[in-house]
Amino acid sequence: MDKEQLWQTTLGELEVILSKAHFTTWFRGTFIVADEEDSTIIGVPNSFSQEWLKNKYHHQIYEILKKYRPELTEIKYKICTVPPPNITLDKEMITPVQEKTAETSKVDHDQTFNLNSHYTFENFVVGNSNRLAHAASLAVSNKPGKKYNPLFIYGGVGLGKTHLIQAIGQEIKKKNPKAKIVYAPCEHFANDFVDAIQNKKIDSFKKKYRNADVLLIDDIQFLSGKEGTQEEFFHTYNALQQSNGQIVLTSDRVPQAIRELSGRLSSRFAGGMVADIKQPDLETRVAILKAKAQEQNMELATNVLDYIAQNISSNIRELEGALNKIKTHLELYNSEATLDIVTQILEPFLSTNRNQYLTAEKIVKIIANFYGIKLEELLGKKRNKELVYPRQIAMYLLRHELNYSYPHIGKELGGKDHTTIIHGSEKIEKEITKNDKMQREISLIKEKLYL
Ligand code: ADP
Ligand code: MG
Repeated sequence: MDKEQLWQTTLGELEVILSKAHFTTWFRGTFIVADEEDSTIIGVPNSFSQEWLKNKYHHQIYEILKKYRPELTEIKYKICTVPPPNITLDKEMITPVQEKTAETSKVDHDQTFNLNSHYTFENFVVGNSNRLAHAASLAVSNKPGKKYNPLFIYGGVGLGKTHLIQAIGQEIKKKNPKAKIVYAPCEHFANDFVDAIQNKKIDSFKKKYRNADVLLIDDIQFLSGKEGTQEEFFHTYNALQQSNGQIVLTSDRVPQAIRELSGRLSSRFAGGMVADIKQPDLETRVAILKAKAQEQNMELATNVLDYIAQNISSNIRELEGALNKIKTHLELYNSEATLDIVTQILEPFLSTNRNQYLTAEKIVKIIANFYGIKLEELLGKKRNKELVYPRQIAMYLLRHELNYSYPHIGKELGGKDHTTIIHGSEKIEKEITKNDKMQREISLIKEKLYL
């Protein structure tokens, strides 16, 4: 299979798993520039696509390519506006060259990086779970740099953090097209910084980040353990504060809970407005589903919406995934979205989603990692509070997620008596109903288990 066929095949597979909107937004104008045994270079039309392919779709792209190139170990995403001359792609896939260059240069000129036009306030459904974060985001968009600076939004995976932080960028841009808005996932900031040092381009790095009017850094928890980048971020942060620039950060947990983050940064993050996004309640999930179905021109009956919302509760990305699955199926088989059919479509997905890859080993590793302790400590016998608590969470999760018997759990946790396990697991069961922090931690851990 040559590289054009390889890419066409890959696109074909991606098209099935992604929504049409995402597929066209992110994969239009992409092609394979070079393809060797173990590495592939994918050409993308702009830094925007580059970012998204690298951060959001890399895994899927890799999985598909790997089937045809078993030796593959590396994929690079390179900005190329024109595919190599011998390539013939479906016309739909390529935007005319002029349009592309115009787009790229406009982006550069504006100094607006990586804002996705889909993530707006208009498209954001407000419910109890995200009301505070939404209100704070709106306030920031109305008066950037004045109120709530920094704004720190935290919440679990797929609950709308990226959507909100991007909406802030769009909204400010709309009100003030000249504003210099920089959006970057934290990992991008970190990579940019390392690149800048390696290529002696630290000046342009500083210019990009420190001169921003609005700096939006997504998933700031990835600063954890990166000392050099933290140092640089600290200076960036101060520069922006001095110039009255607005800073917005998102994270999967509160500032104080980000491990290996310097105290001066976490205290600054915590010193502004801290707003959380919780898991959406049933009502909000139904409202979101309705909105998304409408966007996709799908008509779904109330009982169907309820069924989906009742069965998919952990996050909004999964709700979208379910809708896309249904949509693809309905189009493919030209069928109606009755409750029976939708149940059939989602059933296998709902049950395999859980448990299939979950093992005791995975649970204990993730818990140790989450609480920043060593695996041996988690499985050991020391009775310090910092160890006992995570250990009890492990008991609880082994019991509830894997249905292990108490003696079995005792064995998995380094040889403990079953009465200890019963005590630990029940303690968490009782406490979880009234302890918000515990609830949130457990749901964060669960997300990691099923990711
Ligand atoms: P996070 O960054 O918290 O992991 P995202 O912002 O990427 O989550 O959200 C996941 C998906 O769910 C996105 O496609 C986003 O548009 C959608 N989404 C999240 N919250 C809402 C909401 N309140 N209304 C509409 N769509 C939402
Ligand atoms: Mg995100």
